[in-house]
Amino acid sequence: MFTLPDLPYPESALEPYIDEETMKIHHGKHHAAYVQNLNDALKDFPELSAKKTEELIADLEVIPEGIRTKVRNQGGGHANHSLFWTIMSPSKSALKEGTLMEELKKTFGDLAAFQEKFSAAAMGRFGSGWAWLVKGEDGLEILDTSNQDSPISLGKDPILALDVWEHAYYLKYQNRRADYIKAWWNVVDWPQVERLFKF
Ligand code: MN
Repeated sequence: MFTLPDLPYPESALEPYIDEETMKIHHGKHHAAYVQNLNDALKDFPELSAKKTEELIADLEVIPEGIRTKVRNQGGGHANHSLFWTIMSPSKSALKEGTLMEELKKTFGDLAAFQEKFSAAAMGRFGSGWAWLVKGEDGLEILDTSNQDSPISLGKDPILALDVWEHAYYLKYQNRRADYIKAWWNVVDWPQVERLFKF
């Protein structure tokens, strides 16, 4: 059985950038529903329920066809949100000089250029989906995916994630996705991103 992880901070902690009401519904209703639906989809498959979510979505081809789309959507939703909560923090942080900064500079020029490119990917994702910074065989890469598709299904490890579904920002920002993205950079937990990069 999969369970909803607790938020690592109170629902109001990311104010004013991400409002309490959005966090309450996003975590307590949307994420909880992905967990519930994943459990429902796997109720007759105990051997799959025993696996980690990331394992399930890493190789969707081995999931029985009848539940594959559910596992992709609900399992992706569970994995993506579980990561999303942990790469945010109320304690303002900056990316320090180190291996991640070096790699970002090597790949994108500098931190500002990376942030601009990542924000553009998040803006450019039409409809619901995610923007990602991933670590793969070719180093760092910015990706965007639709719905709850995860880079893990593409063999890449996400180290930074931004949810651009309207449920992530509509209460506070309505149609202003660009304002949400700009505000979100204030709550990125860079030490955590760096830990994921080194892992
Ligand atoms: Mn979401």
